[in-house]
Amino acid sequence: MAWITTDRAEIFLIFTSWMSKLIITNSKRNMFNLILFGPPGAGKGTQAVKIAEKFNWVHISTGDILRAEVGQGTPLGIQVKTVMEAGHLVSDELLIEIMKSVFLKHEHAEGFVFDGFPRTLNQAQELDKMLCRLNHSVKQVLSLEVDEDELVKRLLKRAMEQGRTDDTEEVIKNRLVQYHAHTKPLQQYYREKGIYTEVHGVGGINDIFESLCKAIKK
Ligand code: AMP
Repeated sequence: MAWITTDRAEIFLIFTSWMSKLIITNSKRNMFNLILFGPPGAGKGTQAVKIAEKFNWVHISTGDILRAEVGQGTPLGIQVKTVMEAGHLVSDELLIEIMKSVFLKHEHAEGFVFDGFPRTLNQAQELDKMLCRLNHSVKQVLSLEVDEDELVKRLLKRAMEQGRTDDTEEVIKNRLVQYHAHTKPLQQYYREKGIYTEVHGVGGINDIFESLCKAIKK
């Protein structure tokens, strides 16, 4: 039986040294994790693409990931289709699994711009844990401030242009209700961590982009 113990000890040593190498490599890298926060229609997607391009970060839109699954008719897509079409939130469990595979896929990223994630306190806490395991953290949360009338106007316009089935008036109302009930409370969570900043989200795309870039404390 002694050989089993020795083998296990060796495997354990190899595994811990590999884990510590991964953690050391990761912690040496100055990875920047930015959350673009705000209600549906605030312009997170548009601005996240521009920010990711400028800083060479990876743009993660959970809405885009889920829409692609629905479009391809995968088992996950079939599971979430009706929830999304009703303007409700997909379960935290599924979102956390999605984020885990995102981190595995982008092991060498210099940074992430999260767009549409986290949307619940549970997701925010899980994101902290995932980043903490890699010796990283959320560096900043930038919130795009847009009043509700403007949001509804923008979402209805987008529905016409892109034919999104979750942008009918009824569903838009639902999406805003979900935002106020589950996502808006995250402002307080990030305020308490001292990493939350509000940015005016109305005006020209480039002007808003400039305000966001100025607010990023790299
Ligand atoms: P979005 O494009 O970010 O507005 O997301 C579109 C829809 O995808 C949302 O209305 C939700 O049904 C779902 N979704 C996207 N991200 C999340 C998330 N972090 N948590 C739960 N549901 C999400």
